[in-house]
Amino acid sequence: MLDRANGILKSIFGFAQFRPSQEKIIEQILQGNDALVLMPTGGGKSLCYQIPALLREGTGIVVSPLIALMQDQVDTLKELGVKAAFLNSSLEFSEARIIEQQLLDNQLDILYVAPERLLTERMLQLLDQSTLSLFAIDEAHCVSQWGHDFRPEYQQLKHLHTRYPSIPRIALTATADQRTRDEIILQLQLQEANIFIDSFDRPNIHYAISDGNNPKQRLWKFIQENHADNAGIIYCLSRKKVEAIAEWLEEQGRTALPYHAGLSAEIRQINQQRFLREEAVIIVATIAFGMGIDKPDVRFVAHLSLPKSIEAYYQETGRAGRDGQAANAWMAYGLQDVITLRQFSQDSSADEIHKRVEHHKLEAMLGLCELVTCRRYALLEYFDEISNESCGNCDNCLNPPQKWDATKSAQMALSCVYRTEQRFGVNYIVDILLGKTNERIQRNSHDQLSTFGIGQEISTAEWRVIMRQLIAIGFLEIDMERHGALRLTENCRPLLRGEQSLELRKVEKQEKSISGKKVKHAVRPQDSTLWESLRSLRLSLAEESGVPPYVIFHDATLQEMLKRRPVSQNDMSRISGVGDQKLSRFGQKFLNEIARHPLPELLDNNLSDTVNETLILFQQGEDVEKIVSKRELKHATIYAHLSEAIEVGLLDVKEVLDLDEREYDEIVFAIESLEDEEQGRLKQVYEALEESYDYGILRCVQASI
Ligand SMILES: [Zn+2]
Repeated sequence: MLDRANGILKSIFGFAQFRPSQEKIIEQILQGNDALVLMPTGGGKSLCYQIPALLREGTGIVVSPLIALMQDQVDTLKELGVKAAFLNSSLEFSEARIIEQQLLDNQLDILYVAPERLLTERMLQLLDQSTLSLFAIDEAHCVSQWGHDFRPEYQQLKHLHTRYPSIPRIALTATADQRTRDEIILQLQLQEANIFIDSFDRPNIHYAISDGNNPKQRLWKFIQENHADNAGIIYCLSRKKVEAIAEWLEEQGRTALPYHAGLSAEIRQINQQRFLREEAVIIVATIAFGMGIDKPDVRFVAHLSLPKSIEAYYQETGRAGRDGQAANAWMAYGLQDVITLRQFSQDSSADEIHKRVEHHKLEAMLGLCELVTCRRYALLEYFDEISNESCGNCDNCLNPPQKWDATKSAQMALSCVYRTEQRFGVNYIVDILLGKTNERIQRNSHDQLSTFGIGQEISTAEWRVIMRQLIAIGFLEIDMERHGALRLTENCRPLLRGEQSLELRKVEKQEKSISGKKVKHAVRPQDSTLWESLRSLRLSLAEESGVPPYVIFHDATLQEMLKRRPVSQNDMSRISGVGDQKLSRFGQKFLNEIARHPLPELLDNNLSDTVNETLILFQQGEDVEKIVSKRELKHATIYAHLSEAIEVGLLDVKEVLDLDEREYDEIVFAIESLEDEEQGRLKQVYEALEESYDYGILRCVQASI
């Protein structure tokens, strides 16, 4: 059976091998057992039910909460030649009837159904009369009433087990704290299921969280420097801010579309489609956007406000880089976010227990923001996963934050809160510390306090940061019932008594210019023309079929074509992501495009990008002087690039240097007459030749020997 699974993986999906846990999960389902799968976004969850559904007799029923996801997945499967369909409220009655009949006639491999529809008596009766291969419950965390994606109808899915006890069930989610996991098992009655937990690490995502002034400008800088022609998602807390940011980005020349619950369903649908089908579109959204977005090439997710919990942060940032290529998760936050979120949770109609849970989740999120150690470590630890201490791919690892001794300042702030009887908010406290007076302060006689004006050496902005950090580490609490008044907590006693010192993270005045991580261009300079033409071929094929470009081929597949430059159908079939159906439909078109852009011998190398940029110019007939001025680099650098090509035999030294036989021999002689221990030291050669040749020339000759 597993051999057949491997066969399908290659012939339909075009992949040579399974990822580590996929095979085991598929085996369980093929044996008729239940499974609970916890796998990060982009980990290849859907194959875990798609392949068993193709191998087992009957139709696999996939429960999925979002209509947009179904459309996308069904399109993708159809392009692969799989008989797939969906049933949801977007269909006309007559369309739905046709699909229902196909189900009854056992003509479908996979059928996606919305949960509320699945549980209707009509649908259940249909299922009674059909041959079923499995039930897949996607986004299974929707069953959890503690999560932010709670869908009450998910809890009814347990009836599937009672009604169809012999049909294997597989529940899948990319959210995996212990509480959610336990609830899924309980609510879906999966006590017998085998549980598969993959690592939740997304090593291709670079995490960065920063605070400070002017988040909008910093966002722009981040996007410009790292993602000038990439697609991304920006999350904001309010609809108003969503609209404003989208408009502003449009003014800056980007395609940026708003998405929030206040827009009509039609506009939301249009904006989402454009995001999926066009290239380099930015969606600015409230959290209403994203679940079920399958777009694999989202290169960045930015937060302009604080997510409500670490789960939400993980899930939202997880929408970046599903294709496994480098991506950025960037966030800017401030004190106001904390206050607004507290306000939300206070005003919500939830009961006390819920509020307390929400409060703790927000505390944990704040903790992640204020962290001075590896973000990834903390993130994974939150999901009970212990990783290596330093990931080397987050802001704190790459740029360890500075700390400062904040003992005295913190004492000032805390005692000021205490002396004003814990009745006031951040702004009022900061005014007193700075010795600013106003009518309210005078009325309360707070200009008479001993703490009045004791903090003038620190600026307003810095005081706000200190206050936020004191809140984040739990020394101060915000009392929402008393309009955001600050209250001391038990934790701050030792500090106030002088028994403890306090170090806080120094806030960078000017943010370092690399706040994201340059998403390394996966395309070599010599491949960029072919890359562009493969992309535009893909786009036109996508438009013909009315699907997003990534449904035709993922970026990674196109990149492999660049690297391997297939010349035959047989070569093409070995490219990852090219299955039988796609090979026969698109293979030749892509082969033709590749043949139109042959790679010159000189540029067929593994040298670095910058060397190749020099070589491209050299190939075009430019001399060293011209290359120096075009690339704005030093002579020595350009010669060093050329010498690399000489060393690997791609260039002949005489093509590069204007030397006659005698000069060449003279240099070779000087190099070769060095003593062993001096070998490679050009300075000696330079001096021996009485400084008559540049180092660059010497380097090239040396490379040729
Ligand atoms: Zn790290």
